[in-house]
Amino acid sequence: MSKLSVSEIFFSLQGEGIYIGIPQVFVRFCGCNLRCAYCDTAAGRAEEYDPLTLAGQVRRMMKKHTARSISLTGGEPLLQSEKIRTFLKKGRFSPDSVYLETNGTLSQEFIQVRDCVGIVAVDIKLPSSTAEAALWPQHERFLRACRGKKFFVKAIIYRQRSRISGQWRSYCAVITGIRRWCYSLIITKWGWN
Ligand code: SF4
Repeated sequence: MSKLSVSEIFFSLQGEGIYIGIPQVFVRFCGCNLRCAYCDTAAGRAEEYDPLTLAGQVRRMMKKHTARSISLTGGEPLLQSEKIRTFLKKGRFSPDSVYLETNGTLSQEFIQVRDCVGIVAVDIKLPSSTAEAALWPQHERFLRACRGKKFFVKAIIYRQRSRISGQWRSYCAVITGIRRWCYSLIITKWGWN
């Protein structure tokens, strides 16, 4: 059975979004398809888990801390979407208990786990964050794939103020397209004096 690459499993309270303050078991998956300037996710040492072993460990931690929710985070969890699907199915986790944090660029991979996930936190990446080309088409496809799910969108505005306005217009254009079914919007400023 193919294994999941995980950098850490821990218990904490969710620090943002519509689940803020909710006790969760966090599973931080290794690897990311982006390189954001402010990324604080250290490469770290990966541990390999088969899906059933990981499910057992998460279940035990949930019981110990009386947590009813799991946060799938990273890195970018959707890089391992097929294996995550197996993990969630083997662990018989109710979709309502599963919270996915994603950079919102991998729509096909998201579709593979869509029915196993209850809520999606989509972190839209502005070019000032990634210092790479804009990802609007990818984000737009991803948000359309979220239709019918509970989800919210967030963005971090990085400090290069002079480049913000154009990015902001594009961001608003993408958000406007999904505003009727988007749960909420969170904006965070980063590195501003
Ligand atoms: S998407 Fe997240 S994990 Fe990936 S580089 Fe950006 S901040 Fe880091």
